[in-house]
Amino acid sequence: MNIASNLKETLELIESSAQKNNRTKEEIILVAVTKTVPPEKIQEAIDLGVTHLAENKVQELTKKHEIIGDQVTWHMIGHLQRNKVKYIIDKVDYIHSLDSYELALEIEKRAKKIERPMKCLLEVNISGEESKYGLEPLEAIPLLEKLAELHYVKVVGLMTMAPFLDDPEETRQYFKGLKALSEEIKNQNLSHVRMDYLSMGMSNDFHVAIEEGANMVRVGSKLFT
Ligand SMILES: *Cc1c(COP(=O)(O)O)cnc(C)c1O
Repeated sequence: MNIASNLKETLELIESSAQKNNRTKEEIILVAVTKTVPPEKIQEAIDLGVTHLAENKVQELTKKHEIIGDQVTWHMIGHLQRNKVKYIIDKVDYIHSLDSYELALEIEKRAKKIERPMKCLLEVNISGEESKYGLEPLEAIPLLEKLAELHYVKVVGLMTMAPFLDDPEETRQYFKGLKALSEEIKNQNLSHVRMDYLSMGMSNDFHVAIEEGANMVRVGSKLFT
């Protein structure tokens, strides 16, 4: 595992993809996905300049948070059960997997308790694959409208998991779909909702996602293998 060269390659691809979309690399947040990666390798990535980390399981996140602490910004990107919100509420800065009103209520309750608002991304199942978590695109706006009454759940964007396809070009349509949904949401002028972030793209397809407007990419294996 040569994290330094993996990271360099990743950042170069982020930069060239951003340019294709008339943006700069500074506008793209690289979220390093550290599932199954041992803490010493994570620390190596941090020492090389990585500032955002993500885990997809609550238990692994809390374990690594204990070691790594607050030297980075933490993201929860995996499916989140309501009864586990309490374990991460004081550790993560972003939850990418908000997918129901019930989960929003639990986040509200826990965040209120510690008086710390939580930035959340609505997870949308753009591809319609049955194996995927996330809201149907048509459910997004009705849910966002219901969240107006909450004060500690701050929706700041959308997240999607594209299907894994050998040819990353084939994922482009799903990234276009999430971008279009974010524009539609912006047009609703919901005063309590921001569409600052599009979290889409993983190791094999983040370059395509950036070309389609992603500004948070979740990259694991490309950095840590
Ligand atoms: C594992 C994971 C990633 C990163 O996947 P790689 O292909 O290893 O880059 C991104 N998002 C989620 C939700 C994940 O679980």
